[in-house]
Amino acid sequence: MDSFEQNYINGKWIDSDGGTPHRVINPATEEPGTKIVLSTAADVDLAVAAAKEAFKSFSQTTREERLALLGRIVGEYQKRMPDIAASLAVEMGAPISMGNALQAPTGLGGFISTIAALKEFQFSEQQGSNLIVHEPIGIVGMITPWNWPLNQISLKVAPALAGGNTMVLKPSEECPGCAAILAEVMDAAGVPPGVFNLVQGDGPTVGAALSSHPDVDMISFTGSTRAGVLVAKAAAETVKRVHQELGGKSPNVVLPGANLEEVLPPTISGVLINTGQSCIAPTRVLVHKDQTKEAIDVVTGIVEAQEIGDPMDPGNHMGPVVNKAQHGKIQELIHSAIDEGAILESGGAAMPTNVNRGYYIKPTIFSGVTPNMRIAKEEVFGPVVTLMSYNDLDEAIEIANDTEYGLSAVISGDPIEAAKVATKLQAGAVMINSWAPAPGAPFGGYKQSGNGREGGPQGLRDFMEIKCISGLPA
Ligand code: NAD
Repeated sequence: MDSFEQNYINGKWIDSDGGTPHRVINPATEEPGTKIVLSTAADVDLAVAAAKEAFKSFSQTTREERLALLGRIVGEYQKRMPDIAASLAVEMGAPISMGNALQAPTGLGGFISTIAALKEFQFSEQQGSNLIVHEPIGIVGMITPWNWPLNQISLKVAPALAGGNTMVLKPSEECPGCAAILAEVMDAAGVPPGVFNLVQGDGPTVGAALSSHPDVDMISFTGSTRAGVLVAKAAAETVKRVHQELGGKSPNVVLPGANLEEVLPPTISGVLINTGQSCIAPTRVLVHKDQTKEAIDVVTGIVEAQEIGDPMDPGNHMGPVVNKAQHGKIQELIHSAIDEGAILESGGAAMPTNVNRGYYIKPTIFSGVTPNMRIAKEEVFGPVVTLMSYNDLDEAIEIANDTEYGLSAVISGDPIEAAKVATKLQAGAVMINSWAPAPGAPFGGYKQSGNGREGGPQGLRDFMEIKCISGLPA
């Protein structure tokens, strides 16, 4: 069993000041696993003070020094990928093969793509008689979720470092181990003391203390819209920059006449990978009414072929969802869809037959879903596909945009026709015939999916301040 009962502050592993011991429940066994500490506001104060002191020198480092540092982090991270995958399997139920092939590499990708962005980044430019300079913003507080934990962490830590900032990370209390391994990576890579600090704990205590801290200059949050609003409110008093990557309810607009056997498998996979726990899972599948019957057959075939099993066993099976609360929420939404008249084509709320414990959900497909049903509006965060029919493309676009979210959208079908539709969708990322954005692409949402971008040069810019210097000698 893993044990991460200390925080990493000012380059040292230290005990919490008054924290509470906590065990993460293994979602496959329902038994207590990883040990952590739920830290306190006093721990946040200590970490912020360390980051403040370290900022004095780290903010003055050169591009070359930061590139070298990021390069060493990549090297150390690569050595720890198997440990990261194993940690995710016991804490959030990500199957070990998927952890090794996808979860751990996406975290690495955040560092690699930031190196590319930093090499090209224009830190200063002349605008008329003014010199415009990009400078580090200061101390960045980071709060992250459990679902793609190291992807979300690296999309903050890497650009923050690249920009010359110092930071305090509070990872999800549901999945703390991989963040502790990352702190070990930072230490091994020679990140100077105080530049990267890790405080384990929950949202209402550590997250709130970080969000409201007067010495934190920016709070970068990824998680639910519910918690993102609380973070923004807590941050308002100190007028810090608030960067939010929030929930989603992504549509998959299947163009009329698309070859369903060809276009559906690569996009429906986005609802099954990671047991549907992806903010960009394209769960709302919109199909022309003449192709509804065929779409039901194709999607039912895909979900019924998806195997379920123990996250510790190698293979392409799907693991459990993260915890009991999430399991109960998905079951409740499945029941609500049935009650509201959607047609359950396959799956459902009952336990899969090949397991007798754990928070498993059968891959599920509903047809006959209408936009006003809860299953069409609320983020399910589970392996549930909802099929909706449309009469014409204008109606499909209207349904696609009829959501409070705007994180991503998928268009399935002819790429030339899809490109015309892409301009009409209110989403920060539009993917044609795939569900996942390319590494290093700017990522973030419209509407209640957030503010700001992560990834690539846009992500780097979001972790910087802009200074205008005028009156310089000609
Ligand atoms: P969550 O909002 O419950 O928790 C996210 C983080 O916020 C955790 O670290 C938690 O401890 C912290 N938190 C909770 N309450 C807080 C408070 N009052 N103050 C400060 N911090 C608080 O989300 P989750 O269940 O961990 O993750 C799933 C959600 O994250 C989904 O809604 C998903 O769409 C979203 N998500 C978004 C993106 C994106 O890039 N837009 C990526 C991944 C996940």
